[in-house]
Amino acid sequence: MLHSVSAAALFVDKHEDGAVAGIRQSLYLNLLICLIVTSIVIALVSLVMARYQRRISALATTDLLTRLPNRRGFELLANQAVQEARRTANPLCALMLDLDNFKLLNDSHGHMAGDEVLRHFASTLQNTVRKSDIICRWGGEEFILLLKDTSPEQARELGEKIRQLTEQSSIHFNNADLRITTSLGLAKLHDEESLEQLITRADRALYRAKQSGRNRLCEETL
Ligand code: GH3
Ligand code: MG
Ligand code: MG
Repeated sequence: MLHSVSAAALFVDKHEDGAVAGIRQSLYLNLLICLIVTSIVIALVSLVMARYQRRISALATTDLLTRLPNRRGFELLANQAVQEARRTANPLCALMLDLDNFKLLNDSHGHMAGDEVLRHFASTLQNTVRKSDIICRWGGEEFILLLKDTSPEQARELGEKIRQLTEQSSIHFNNADLRITTSLGLAKLHDEESLEQLITRADRALYRAKQSGRNRLCEETL
């Protein structure tokens, strides 16, 4: 009798051990599934966040009308170009461009026509410069080009090409053929000069181009 009771107790103990092991196993399995699901969710969320952040920073540095870098986008790239030019002692030139009598074009053909001219001018710039050059819509109808490893002679040649292409092209919009010209100011980066100082000199040259009759390129040599 005693013998059969202890055998039964042993059987119950073994049965309980088996049940606890089963519960433990399913607990571990559940924990593992939770861990995998959580990791997948975290990975997906960080992927979406990174994409969203990239889009926000692209929006903050791009001009929506022309799709060119805006002033903020330009400054990030241009400061690097200035440092690189200093390190390598390669020439760096800035060309500042401003469309001539653009207000008149807006007034006579409308703001939408003006927008179309700006888009067209931006694509002329993009098709003319090298991939390594930096283009920017500085604001309104003003643009700036930063030409890496480019002498003033080469920059003048490029500026002249842009001036002629602009003068010669006619943009068809709403049954009208729109024509525009551009003035340009050129300056070469001096030793120890900041980006800001370079742009100020290019702007001064542009001012002279405007003062001396527009549709021309002036160079700031000082
Ligand atoms: P100048 O030859 O001296 O440069 O004369 P301008 O008429 O080109 O220069 P002004 O500064 O008098 O006028 C610039 C005009 O550019 C005024 C403004 O309404 C227009 N403008 C600025 N941004 C935009 C834009 O995004 N779209 C359009 N359509 N016009 C713009
Ligand atoms: Mg203008
Ligand atoms: Mg202007």
